[in-house]
Amino acid sequence: MSHKVRVRFAPSPTGGLHLGGVRTVLYNYLFARHHGGDFILRIEDTDQKRFVAGAEEYIMNCLRWCGLEPDESPEKGGSYGPYRQSERKAIYQQYAQQLIDAGYAYYAFDTPEELEHMRHHLKTEQNPSPQYDRYTRHHMKNSISLSAAETEALLAQQTPYVVRIKVPENETVLLTDMIRGEVSFDTNLLDDKVLMKADGMPTYHLAVVVDDYLMKITHAFRGEEWLPSAPVHVLLWRYLGWEAHMPQWAHLPLINGPDGKKLSKRHGSAYGFPIFAMNWTDPVKNEFTEGFKERGFLPQAFINMLALLGWSDEHAQEIQSLEELIRHFNIERVHSNGAIFDFEKAKWFNHQYIQKADIADLVYMTKPYIEEKGVHTTDAYLAQVIELIKERCHLLPDFWEQGSFLFQSPQTIDVAAIQDKWTAEKQHFFRTWAATLPDAPVWGHAALEEHFLELMTAQGLKKGDVLLPLRIMLVGGKFGPGVFNIIELIGIDETIQRIHHAIEQLS
Ligand code: GLU
Repeated sequence: MSHKVRVRFAPSPTGGLHLGGVRTVLYNYLFARHHGGDFILRIEDTDQKRFVAGAEEYIMNCLRWCGLEPDESPEKGGSYGPYRQSERKAIYQQYAQQLIDAGYAYYAFDTPEELEHMRHHLKTEQNPSPQYDRYTRHHMKNSISLSAAETEALLAQQTPYVVRIKVPENETVLLTDMIRGEVSFDTNLLDDKVLMKADGMPTYHLAVVVDDYLMKITHAFRGEEWLPSAPVHVLLWRYLGWEAHMPQWAHLPLINGPDGKKLSKRHGSAYGFPIFAMNWTDPVKNEFTEGFKERGFLPQAFINMLALLGWSDEHAQEIQSLEELIRHFNIERVHSNGAIFDFEKAKWFNHQYIQKADIADLVYMTKPYIEEKGVHTTDAYLAQVIELIKERCHLLPDFWEQGSFLFQSPQTIDVAAIQDKWTAEKQHFFRTWAATLPDAPVWGHAALEEHFLELMTAQGLKKGDVLLPLRIMLVGGKFGPGVFNIIELIGIDETIQRIHHAIEQLS
């Protein structure tokens, strides 16, 4: 590649960042890093009607959490700014004018009512939803249907207008997509998209082309929902005289839910999994959507899982660090068909990363979930708990689910699980053992176990008689790590108290 690779993620700040969006970020980022290029964040906020307060800041926070920080962005600046399209308004006007002057675009003065009228009155059986195109443009109020003098007069009177691209007839627009290969479009099926709106703002179509050019973007990767717009973009690159600089395109396939349909918030609520990177509350609808972060994902696990959702690495290795992903990533190996999101698999990735995470990092990440329960603990104690139960945890809140009894006595004890086989002998054994515990010879789970087993044998009991009751007494249920490890952590006094409390309930 002769030019420095420059890619961009160009979200519209309209809401939360869903799985597909983060994956677009990730593939851009991996590609840029793989080629020693630049990764740019550009905010496409030209549609004032869809603008949502807080969405831009939220997007930046998500990228930060994921560890996918851009080299250039509205926050960071860079040599090609501004990076917010609303701040580039003045730039687009001249290019719209250039297109009009060259006959590739035209003024359209139609009112919303006139457009509505067209949609109704030009409806035929062959053309059930007429669009503003090579046929209808001649019946509308624009600089093609009107004379030059009429157009001038309307402009002089400051009649509101939009600028539309004049899509050519009978042409085939070809595009080489790095994932799909050659894709062709028949221009007769395209509509004359609006390029400049009546408020003087460009539409996405004009802005994306102008900015990709001015920002020297070499590769444009985006969701496949943009593929139908691609021929219009190719035409604009050509009409602006920049075709030789056009980025290489890749349209990323959709991420689907378990039912094979495009992943959406509905899947999130139906299946109970998050679909946004981080918690998001829509300020207008006041609608809350859960994030992977808050659900208890480690960003590294989330990223690793996402990278493989639609891309396969010839090394076929599932667990890959960001450095490995950067080394192995190849956009041409992204699958052209949609990937199915599997929450169980996502949890598996997280489990793997929990096992190898730095304990200090886990302490930092799990503490909020423990404190949220009103429990205060020291980092040193939490670190011991994490070491002991991490093997049982898939998501960060599992540290509480799997280990709450290490911070406080169980709220309930599953007495029913042992009641039937409870005997006077067992009761005597547990009372005696508890009484001798304060003088237990050596501390530590192995020594505690030895001391317990000695007394058990001396009283003619077997492991099968006493280990389950001991677990129920300490944990409250039939789960958890080794019982003697538990005692080692909660301490003698707490152990004795739990035993007495359970015996009371049993008798
Ligand atoms: N602003 C578009 C979006 O919100 C970006 C599409 C593109 O990357 O060209 O997805």
